[in-house]
Amino acid sequence: MKNKTDQLNKTQKNPFRLLCLVMSLLIAFTCVPAGILASEADPSSIQMTEAVPKPKPSLDKTKAVMGIGEIIQINMLNTKKEAVWSSSDRKVARVSKKGKVLAVGEGKATITAAILRFELTCEITVVKRSLTMTQEQLTLKKGQIYALRVKKENLTGTVSWTSSNPSVVTVNKYGTIKAKSVGSAVICAEVGTYSAECKVTVKASSASTRWKRLLERYLPYSGTKQLVFVKYTGGSSAIVKLYTKSAGKWKRVLTCQGEVGQGGVGTAREGIAVTPTGVYNLTGAFGIAPNPGAKMKYIRVNQYLYWCGDRNFYNQLIDIREHPHNCQGEHLIEYTQCYEYGMFFDYNKENIYGKGSAFFLHVKGNYGYTGGCVAVSRANMIKILQTCEKGAKICIYPR
Ligand SMILES: [Zn+2]
Repeated sequence: MKNKTDQLNKTQKNPFRLLCLVMSLLIAFTCVPAGILASEADPSSIQMTEAVPKPKPSLDKTKAVMGIGEIIQINMLNTKKEAVWSSSDRKVARVSKKGKVLAVGEGKATITAAILRFELTCEITVVKRSLTMTQEQLTLKKGQIYALRVKKENLTGTVSWTSSNPSVVTVNKYGTIKAKSVGSAVICAEVGTYSAECKVTVKASSASTRWKRLLERYLPYSGTKQLVFVKYTGGSSAIVKLYTKSAGKWKRVLTCQGEVGQGGVGTAREGIAVTPTGVYNLTGAFGIAPNPGAKMKYIRVNQYLYWCGDRNFYNQLIDIREHPHNCQGEHLIEYTQCYEYGMFFDYNKENIYGKGSAFFLHVKGNYGYTGGCVAVSRANMIKILQTCEKGAKICIYPR
Protein backbone atom coordinates (compact mmCIF):
# COMPACT_ATOMS: atom_id res chain seq x y z
CA MET A 1 0.00 0.00 0.00
CA LYS A 2 2.60 2.33 0.98
CA ASN A 3 4.74 1.60 -2.07
CA LYS A 4 1.94 2.19 -4.59
CA THR A 5 1.06 5.46 -3.09
CA ASP A 6 4.66 6.37 -3.24
CA GLN A 7 4.89 5.57 -6.91
CA LEU A 8 1.77 7.51 -7.75
CA ASN A 9 3.13 10.32 -5.79
CA LYS A 10 6.35 10.18 -7.74
CA THR A 11 4.54 10.25 -11.05
CA GLN A 12 2.36 13.09 -10.05
CA LYS A 13 5.41 14.82 -8.89
CA ASN A 14 7.13 14.46 -12.28
CA PRO A 15 4.86 15.57 -15.20
CA PHE A 16 7.77 15.46 -17.68
CA ARG A 17 8.29 11.75 -17.03
CA LEU A 18 4.60 11.04 -17.72
CA LEU A 19 4.86 12.77 -21.07
CA CYS A 20 7.87 10.60 -21.98
CA LEU A 21 5.91 7.43 -21.18
CA VAL A 22 2.98 8.46 -23.41
CA MET A 23 5.35 9.33 -26.21
CA SER A 24 7.21 5.99 -26.05
CA LEU A 25 3.92 4.09 -26.06
CA LEU A 26 2.78 5.98 -29.13
CA ILE A 27 6.06 5.21 -30.91
CA ALA A 28 5.83 1.53 -29.99
CA PHE A 29 2.28 1.18 -31.50
CA THR A 30 3.23 3.09 -34.60
CA CYS A 31 6.04 0.59 -35.27
CA VAL A 32 3.65 -2.42 -35.27
CA PRO A 33 2.65 -3.31 -38.86
CA ALA A 34 -0.54 -1.60 -39.78
CA GLY A 35 -2.34 -4.82 -40.90
CA ILE A 36 -1.95 -6.65 -37.61
CA LEU A 37 -2.89 -3.57 -35.74
CA ALA A 38 -6.07 -3.15 -37.77
CA SER A 39 -7.31 -6.75 -37.68
CA GLU A 40 -6.54 -7.27 -34.03
CA ALA A 41 -7.84 -3.96 -33.08
CA ASP A 42 -11.04 -3.92 -35.17
CA PRO A 43 -13.74 -5.62 -33.15
CA SER A 44 -16.31 -5.57 -35.99
CA SER A 45 -14.35 -8.13 -38.10
CA ILE A 46 -14.44 -10.68 -35.30
CA GLN A 47 -18.15 -10.22 -34.95
CA MET A 48 -18.67 -10.90 -38.70
CA THR A 49 -16.85 -14.27 -38.60
CA GLU A 50 -18.99 -15.38 -35.74
CA ALA A 51 -22.16 -14.30 -37.59
CA VAL A 52 -21.72 -16.70 -40.67
CA PRO A 53 -24.03 -19.71 -40.10
CA LYS A 54 -22.57 -23.20 -40.39
CA PRO A 55 -23.28 -24.39 -44.04
CA LYS A 56 -26.00 -26.97 -44.42
CA PRO A 57 -25.27 -30.31 -46.07
CA SER A 58 -26.07 -30.31 -49.79
CA LEU A 59 -25.50 -32.31 -52.97
CA ASP A 60 -23.09 -31.25 -55.66
CA LYS A 61 -25.82 -31.73 -58.29
CA THR A 62 -29.56 -31.45 -58.08
CA LYS A 63 -30.44 -32.65 -61.55
CA ALA A 64 -28.82 -34.71 -64.28
CA VAL A 65 -29.66 -36.21 -67.66
CA MET A 66 -28.18 -39.65 -68.17
CA GLY A 67 -28.10 -42.22 -70.91
CA ILE A 68 -29.03 -45.81 -70.14
CA GLY A 69 -26.00 -47.59 -68.74
CA GLU A 70 -24.22 -44.41 -67.72
CA ILE A 71 -22.92 -43.88 -64.18
CA ILE A 72 -22.53 -40.61 -62.30
CA GLN A 73 -21.34 -39.86 -58.78
CA ILE A 74 -23.38 -37.54 -56.52
CA ASN A 75 -21.26 -36.05 -53.75
CA MET A 76 -22.31 -34.73 -50.36
CA LEU A 77 -21.06 -31.28 -49.50
CA ASN A 78 -20.50 -29.71 -46.09
CA THR A 79 -20.70 -32.89 -44.06
CA LYS A 80 -18.60 -35.87 -43.28
CA LYS A 81 -21.54 -37.89 -42.07
CA GLU A 82 -22.79 -40.82 -44.15
CA ALA A 83 -26.12 -40.33 -45.90
CA VAL A 84 -28.69 -42.99 -46.61
CA TRP A 85 -29.22 -43.04 -50.37
CA SER A 86 -32.37 -44.16 -52.15
CA SER A 87 -34.04 -43.97 -55.54
CA SER A 88 -37.71 -43.24 -56.15
CA ASP A 89 -37.72 -45.67 -59.09
CA ARG A 90 -35.14 -48.41 -59.30
CA LYS A 91 -36.32 -49.27 -62.83
CA VAL A 92 -35.03 -45.87 -63.93
CA ALA A 93 -31.98 -45.25 -61.74
CA ARG A 94 -30.24 -47.10 -58.95
CA VAL A 95 -27.98 -45.57 -56.34
CA SER A 96 -25.18 -47.13 -54.30
CA LYS A 97 -24.46 -46.57 -50.59
CA LYS A 98 -21.85 -44.04 -51.66
CA GLY A 99 -24.07 -42.01 -54.02
CA LYS A 100 -23.06 -43.61 -57.30
CA VAL A 101 -26.02 -43.55 -59.70
CA LEU A 102 -26.58 -46.06 -62.50
CA ALA A 103 -29.15 -45.25 -65.18
CA VAL A 104 -31.08 -48.40 -66.06
CA GLY A 105 -34.21 -47.37 -67.96
CA GLU A 106 -35.88 -44.43 -69.63
CA GLY A 107 -37.86 -42.13 -67.30
CA LYS A 108 -37.44 -39.89 -64.29
CA ALA A 109 -36.31 -40.78 -60.78
CA THR A 110 -35.47 -38.83 -57.65
CA ILE A 111 -32.33 -39.79 -55.82
CA THR A 112 -32.57 -38.92 -52.13
CA ALA A 113 -29.75 -38.63 -49.66
CA ALA A 114 -31.13 -38.66 -46.09
CA ILE A 115 -28.83 -37.24 -43.46
CA LEU A 116 -29.78 -36.10 -39.94
CA ARG A 117 -32.90 -33.97 -40.38
CA PHE A 118 -32.14 -33.24 -44.05
CA GLU A 119 -33.45 -34.94 -47.16
CA LEU A 120 -31.42 -33.89 -50.17
CA THR A 121 -32.59 -34.74 -53.67
CA CYS A 122 -31.26 -34.96 -57.20
CA GLU A 123 -33.67 -35.33 -60.13
CA ILE A 124 -32.45 -37.86 -62.65
CA THR A 125 -33.80 -38.03 -66.20
CA VAL A 126 -32.76 -41.15 -68.06
CA VAL A 127 -32.86 -41.04 -71.84
CA LYS A 128 -31.94 -43.52 -74.51
CA ARG A 129 -28.77 -42.40 -76.24
CA SER A 130 -27.44 -44.08 -79.33
CA LEU A 131 -25.04 -43.72 -82.21
CA THR A 132 -25.77 -45.81 -85.27
CA MET A 133 -24.17 -46.04 -88.67
CA THR A 134 -26.64 -45.67 -91.55
CA GLN A 135 -24.90 -48.72 -93.08
CA GLU A 136 -23.27 -51.48 -91.10
CA GLN A 137 -21.80 -53.20 -94.16
CA LEU A 138 -20.64 -51.83 -97.44
CA THR A 139 -18.87 -53.16 -100.52
CA LEU A 140 -16.91 -50.74 -102.65
CA LYS A 141 -14.81 -51.07 -105.73
CA LYS A 142 -11.20 -50.03 -105.55
CA GLY A 143 -10.94 -46.29 -106.07
CA GLN A 144 -14.55 -45.62 -105.09
CA ILE A 145 -15.42 -42.79 -102.69
CA TYR A 146 -18.41 -42.98 -100.36
CA ALA A 147 -19.85 -40.72 -97.67
CA LEU A 148 -20.73 -42.64 -94.50
CA ARG A 149 -23.32 -41.14 -92.17
CA VAL A 150 -24.28 -41.71 -88.53
CA LYS A 151 -27.56 -41.18 -86.69
CA LYS A 152 -27.21 -39.54 -83.26
CA GLU A 153 -29.93 -39.92 -80.62
CA ASN A 154 -29.69 -37.66 -77.54
CA LEU A 155 -26.02 -37.19 -78.24
CA THR A 156 -24.12 -33.98 -78.75
CA GLY A 157 -20.55 -33.49 -79.79
CA THR A 158 -18.66 -34.09 -82.97
CA VAL A 159 -18.14 -37.49 -84.46
CA SER A 160 -14.58 -38.76 -84.72
CA TRP A 161 -13.84 -41.25 -87.48
CA THR A 162 -11.19 -43.93 -87.67
CA SER A 163 -10.30 -46.80 -90.00
CA SER A 164 -8.97 -50.14 -88.76
CA ASN A 165 -6.89 -50.43 -91.91
CA PRO A 166 -6.12 -47.15 -93.71
CA SER A 167 -4.12 -48.94 -96.39
CA VAL A 168 -7.43 -50.52 -97.51
CA VAL A 169 -9.95 -47.78 -96.65
CA THR A 170 -9.21 -44.23 -95.54
CA VAL A 171 -11.72 -41.98 -93.78
CA ASN A 172 -11.63 -38.21 -93.33
CA LYS A 173 -13.08 -36.13 -90.49
CA TYR A 174 -16.44 -35.89 -92.26
CA GLY A 175 -16.85 -39.66 -92.66
CA THR A 176 -15.99 -39.74 -96.35
CA ILE A 177 -14.25 -43.00 -97.10
CA LYS A 178 -12.06 -44.02 -100.00
CA ALA A 179 -11.34 -47.58 -101.12
CA LYS A 180 -7.57 -47.72 -101.57
CA SER A 181 -6.87 -51.41 -102.12
CA VAL A 182 -8.55 -54.81 -102.15
CA GLY A 183 -9.35 -56.08 -98.64
CA SER A 184 -11.56 -55.11 -95.75
CA ALA A 185 -11.54 -52.54 -92.96
CA VAL A 186 -13.84 -51.49 -90.14
CA ILE A 187 -14.73 -47.81 -90.05
CA CYS A 188 -15.53 -46.58 -86.55
CA ALA A 189 -17.47 -43.44 -85.61
CA GLU A 190 -17.28 -42.23 -82.02
CA VAL A 191 -19.06 -39.60 -79.95
CA GLY A 192 -17.81 -39.66 -76.38
CA THR A 193 -18.14 -43.24 -75.17
CA TYR A 194 -20.61 -44.15 -77.92
CA SER A 195 -19.42 -45.81 -81.10
CA ALA A 196 -20.77 -47.33 -84.30
CA GLU A 197 -19.09 -49.43 -86.93
CA CYS A 198 -19.33 -50.17 -90.61
CA LYS A 199 -17.48 -53.07 -92.20
CA VAL A 200 -16.20 -52.08 -95.63
CA THR A 201 -15.11 -54.67 -98.20
CA VAL A 202 -13.10 -53.44 -101.14
CA LYS A 203 -13.22 -55.42 -104.36
CA ALA A 204 -11.07 -54.95 -107.38
CA SER A 205 -12.45 -52.61 -109.99
CA SER A 206 -13.97 -54.41 -112.96
CA ALA A 207 -10.99 -53.48 -115.13
CA SER A 208 -8.35 -54.85 -112.78
CA THR A 209 -10.50 -57.96 -112.28
CA ARG A 210 -10.42 -58.41 -116.04
CA TRP A 211 -6.60 -58.27 -116.19
CA LYS A 212 -6.36 -60.68 -113.28
CA ARG A 213 -8.84 -63.05 -114.97
CA LEU A 214 -6.78 -62.98 -118.17
CA LEU A 215 -3.65 -63.95 -116.27
CA GLU A 216 -5.57 -66.72 -114.50
CA ARG A 217 -7.19 -67.95 -117.72
CA TYR A 218 -3.93 -68.37 -119.61
CA LEU A 219 -1.82 -69.63 -116.73
CA PRO A 220 -2.71 -73.33 -117.17
CA TYR A 221 -2.80 -73.03 -120.97
CA SER A 222 0.56 -74.23 -122.27
CA GLY A 223 -0.10 -72.80 -125.73
CA THR A 224 0.35 -69.25 -124.45
CA LYS A 225 3.58 -68.30 -122.75
CA GLN A 226 3.41 -64.50 -123.10
CA LEU A 227 0.70 -61.91 -122.65
CA VAL A 228 0.98 -58.31 -123.75
CA PHE A 229 -1.50 -56.15 -121.82
CA VAL A 230 -2.49 -52.88 -123.42
CA LYS A 231 -4.33 -50.92 -120.74
CA TYR A 232 -5.94 -47.91 -122.32
CA THR A 233 -5.62 -44.83 -120.13
CA GLY A 234 -7.47 -42.26 -122.23
CA GLY A 235 -6.68 -40.10 -125.21
CA SER A 236 -4.23 -42.07 -127.32
CA SER A 237 -2.31 -43.42 -124.34
CA ALA A 238 -1.96 -46.85 -122.85
CA ILE A 239 0.21 -48.70 -120.38
CA VAL A 240 1.77 -51.74 -122.01
CA LYS A 241 2.82 -54.64 -119.82
CA LEU A 242 4.53 -57.80 -120.92
CA TYR A 243 4.11 -60.98 -118.90
CA THR A 244 5.95 -64.22 -119.48
CA LYS A 245 5.36 -67.57 -117.86
CA SER A 246 8.16 -68.72 -115.61
CA ALA A 247 8.08 -71.74 -113.26
CA GLY A 248 4.30 -71.95 -113.49
CA LYS A 249 3.75 -68.29 -112.65
CA TRP A 250 3.28 -65.11 -114.59
CA LYS A 251 6.21 -62.76 -114.35
CA ARG A 252 5.94 -59.18 -115.50
CA VAL A 253 9.04 -58.36 -117.53
CA LEU A 254 8.09 -54.98 -118.98
CA THR A 255 5.89 -51.99 -118.19
CA CYS A 256 5.99 -49.03 -120.52
CA GLN A 257 4.02 -46.20 -122.05
CA GLY A 258 2.26 -47.04 -125.27
CA GLU A 259 0.24 -45.31 -127.95
CA VAL A 260 -3.04 -46.37 -129.49
CA GLY A 261 -5.27 -44.98 -132.19
CA GLN A 262 -6.06 -41.30 -132.46
CA GLY A 263 -9.66 -42.25 -131.67
CA GLY A 264 -8.71 -44.32 -128.61
CA VAL A 265 -9.74 -47.96 -128.20
CA GLY A 266 -13.10 -49.50 -128.98
CA THR A 267 -14.76 -51.03 -132.00
CA ALA A 268 -12.44 -50.73 -134.94
CA ARG A 269 -13.31 -50.59 -138.62
CA GLU A 270 -11.77 -49.44 -141.87
CA GLY A 271 -11.29 -45.69 -142.13
CA ILE A 272 -11.22 -44.80 -138.41
CA ALA A 273 -8.16 -44.65 -136.18
CA VAL A 274 -9.55 -46.76 -133.35
CA THR A 275 -7.58 -49.61 -131.79
CA PRO A 276 -9.79 -52.71 -131.37
CA THR A 277 -10.49 -53.98 -127.85
CA GLY A 278 -10.18 -57.69 -127.23
CA VAL A 279 -7.68 -60.54 -126.97
CA TYR A 280 -5.75 -61.36 -130.15
CA ASN A 281 -2.94 -63.69 -131.16
CA LEU A 282 0.41 -62.17 -131.99
CA THR A 283 0.86 -64.07 -135.20
CA GLY A 284 4.30 -63.08 -136.39
CA ALA A 285 7.26 -60.74 -136.23
CA PHE A 286 8.38 -58.42 -138.98
CA GLY A 287 10.58 -55.44 -139.62
CA ILE A 288 12.45 -53.34 -142.11
CA ALA A 289 15.55 -53.77 -139.96
CA PRO A 290 17.34 -57.11 -139.62
CA ASN A 291 15.97 -59.63 -137.15
CA PRO A 292 16.90 -58.41 -133.64
CA GLY A 293 16.58 -61.92 -132.22
CA ALA A 294 12.84 -62.40 -132.38
CA LYS A 295 11.51 -65.61 -130.84
CA MET A 296 8.84 -65.89 -133.54
CA LYS A 297 9.38 -66.31 -137.22
CA TYR A 298 10.64 -62.91 -138.42
CA ILE A 299 9.62 -61.53 -141.79
CA ARG A 300 12.14 -59.07 -143.14
CA VAL A 301 10.24 -56.36 -144.98
CA ASN A 302 11.15 -55.84 -148.61
CA GLN A 303 9.73 -53.65 -151.36
CA TYR A 304 7.28 -56.37 -152.53
CA LEU A 305 5.39 -56.71 -149.26
CA TYR A 306 2.01 -55.06 -148.76
CA TRP A 307 -0.64 -55.35 -146.11
CA CYS A 308 -3.55 -55.46 -148.44
CA GLY A 309 -6.69 -53.37 -147.98
CA ASP A 310 -8.31 -54.50 -151.22
CA ARG A 311 -11.35 -56.76 -151.35
CA ASN A 312 -9.52 -59.81 -152.77
CA PHE A 313 -6.80 -60.07 -150.15
CA TYR A 314 -8.31 -57.92 -147.41
CA ASN A 315 -6.26 -57.71 -144.21
CA GLN A 316 -3.57 -60.09 -145.46
CA LEU A 317 0.17 -59.81 -145.98
CA ILE A 318 0.87 -60.29 -149.64
CA ASP A 319 3.89 -60.39 -151.88
CA ILE A 320 2.97 -58.38 -154.92
CA ARG A 321 5.08 -60.72 -157.05
CA GLU A 322 2.80 -63.62 -156.12
CA HIS A 323 -0.46 -61.64 -156.37
CA PRO A 324 0.14 -58.88 -158.88
CA HIS A 325 -2.37 -56.02 -158.47
CA ASN A 326 -2.34 -52.32 -157.98
CA CYS A 327 -2.41 -52.66 -154.17
CA GLN A 328 -4.16 -49.92 -152.21
CA GLY A 329 -2.99 -51.37 -148.87
CA GLU A 330 0.03 -50.43 -146.80
CA HIS A 331 3.37 -50.65 -148.55
CA LEU A 332 5.22 -51.69 -145.40
CA ILE A 333 8.71 -50.56 -146.43
CA GLU A 334 7.53 -46.95 -146.68
CA TYR A 335 6.89 -46.76 -142.91
CA THR A 336 10.57 -46.61 -142.06
CA GLN A 337 10.20 -45.57 -138.43
CA CYS A 338 7.07 -47.46 -137.35
CA TYR A 339 7.82 -50.71 -139.14
CA GLU A 340 11.49 -50.89 -138.33
CA TYR A 341 10.21 -53.56 -135.94
CA GLY A 342 6.72 -54.91 -135.38
CA MET A 343 4.39 -57.82 -134.76
CA PHE A 344 1.12 -58.72 -136.45
CA PHE A 345 -1.98 -59.48 -134.44
CA ASP A 346 -5.04 -61.25 -135.76
CA TYR A 347 -7.82 -58.70 -135.40
CA ASN A 348 -10.39 -59.46 -138.14
CA LYS A 349 -8.81 -62.82 -138.93
CA GLU A 350 -11.98 -63.66 -140.86
CA ASN A 351 -10.82 -60.89 -143.25
CA ILE A 352 -14.26 -59.30 -143.36
CA TYR A 353 -14.02 -56.43 -145.77
CA GLY A 354 -14.41 -53.08 -144.01
CA LYS A 355 -14.03 -54.48 -140.49
CA GLY A 356 -10.50 -53.13 -140.45
CA SER A 357 -7.05 -54.15 -141.62
CA ALA A 358 -3.37 -53.78 -140.79
CA PHE A 359 -3.39 -53.80 -136.99
CA PHE A 360 0.10 -54.23 -135.61
CA LEU A 361 2.21 -53.77 -132.54
CA HIS A 362 5.05 -51.57 -133.75
CA VAL A 363 7.59 -48.85 -132.98
CA LYS A 364 6.20 -45.39 -132.12
CA GLY A 365 6.05 -42.75 -134.82
CA ASN A 366 6.20 -38.99 -134.37
CA TYR A 367 2.53 -38.16 -133.82
CA GLY A 368 1.75 -39.42 -130.31
CA TYR A 369 -0.97 -41.68 -131.69
CA THR A 370 -1.42 -44.42 -134.26
CA GLY A 371 -3.88 -45.21 -137.02
CA GLY A 372 -5.35 -48.00 -134.86
CA CYS A 373 -2.21 -49.98 -134.01
CA VAL A 374 -0.41 -50.20 -130.70
CA ALA A 375 3.02 -48.59 -130.53
CA VAL A 376 5.85 -48.70 -128.01
CA SER A 377 9.41 -47.35 -128.04
CA ARG A 378 11.96 -49.03 -130.30
CA ALA A 379 13.84 -50.55 -127.33
CA ASN A 380 10.63 -51.96 -125.84
CA MET A 381 9.54 -53.31 -129.22
CA ILE A 382 12.84 -55.19 -129.50
CA LYS A 383 12.37 -56.56 -125.98
CA ILE A 384 8.87 -57.77 -126.87
CA LEU A 385 10.16 -59.39 -130.05
CA GLN A 386 12.92 -61.13 -128.12
CA THR A 387 10.43 -62.42 -125.54
CA CYS A 388 7.22 -63.38 -127.35
CA GLU A 389 6.94 -66.92 -128.62
CA LYS A 390 4.32 -68.57 -130.82
CA GLY A 391 0.98 -68.45 -129.00
CA ALA A 392 1.65 -65.08 -127.35
CA LYS A 393 -1.44 -62.86 -127.04
CA ILE A 394 -2.15 -59.17 -126.97
CA CYS A 395 -5.01 -58.03 -124.72
CA ILE A 396 -6.38 -54.56 -125.37
CA TYR A 397 -8.92 -53.06 -122.97
CA PRO A 398 -9.75 -49.93 -121.10
CA ARG A 399 -8.24 -49.87 -117.65
ZN1 LIG B 1 -3.90 -55.00 -152.11
